[in-house]
Amino acid sequence: MTPEEKKTVIKRLEEKYDREYGRNDIEIMTTDAIPGVLFGYALNIQKCIGCRRCVYACVKENNQSRHDPNDPSRLQIQWIRVLEFDKFKYKSGGESSDFRSQFGNLQAGVDIEQSENYYNSPNVPQSGHFYMPVQCQQCERPPCVKVCPTKATWREPDGIVVIDYSWCIGCRFCLAACPYWARRFNWGIPYLPGKDLNPVMHYLGNRPRMRGVAEKCTFCIQRTRKGKYPACVEICPVGARKFGNLLDPESEVRKVLAEKRVFRLKEELGTDPKFFYFME
Ligand code: SF4
Ligand code: SF4
Repeated sequence: MTPEEKKTVIKRLEEKYDREYGRNDIEIMTTDAIPGVLFGYALNIQKCIGCRRCVYACVKENNQSRHDPNDPSRLQIQWIRVLEFDKFKYKSGGESSDFRSQFGNLQAGVDIEQSENYYNSPNVPQSGHFYMPVQCQQCERPPCVKVCPTKATWREPDGIVVIDYSWCIGCRFCLAACPYWARRFNWGIPYLPGKDLNPVMHYLGNRPRMRGVAEKCTFCIQRTRKGKYPACVEICPVGARKFGNLLDPESEVRKVLAEKRVFRLKEELGTDPKFFYFME
């Protein structure tokens, strides 16, 4: 596509969304990756209190489908999951037992199989628990990209794995291939009232999705390519989330990698995530 043709498509889309959502302020960016930037993310699991403010800030910023009041079975789409872990729960031989009673005050550590995604505690953090948010890990070798039959998803030079919704045929191969349960699917027409729409969009990010397409975290491409933090980093009340340029030795994220105890999820799979977890 020539730059002129691109401009025409974007203008047509802006007008379409303005009409559909009753707005007149929609702006769709097509900003390219900034040369010399490779985005990386680091999350302090010792600090996270499990409040899920990041989850809701992400929904708002990225125009996810909301709970549909006319159809309670249609729930909000959330790109971030916060997992709750019982520090002492331990499983052996398929039977759950109490880790503390067997091993005293040792901690069971991170066992994803033992985590709770749907916790509903009135107060967080719950004593004896810790929390680990999971979202797209922006893999350097992303299995989701490999399996896409239409090449509707790819990795950009700044490390962000994107989806062109217009090319997605809804086969859901990528959902099956992702080892981190990071992709979501629009089974129905997304429910997004015009007044709730974030009009500042990126073509490969938070523009409205249609029925039958996959979506996921893009490190807030519409913000980060303009030098801003992702919405989840900005909202986190305890500063558990760090973000920056992995190619810049002075960046926050590089300092975390140099100074903290760091791990990545399912490292043995060779996906090479650009999302790191750390402890002091
Ligand atoms: S976490 Fe999943 S969706 Fe994200 S890049 Fe890796 S494989 Fe793809
Ligand atoms: S906003 Fe921060 S503290 Fe709250 S769940 Fe998200 S990462 Fe954890």
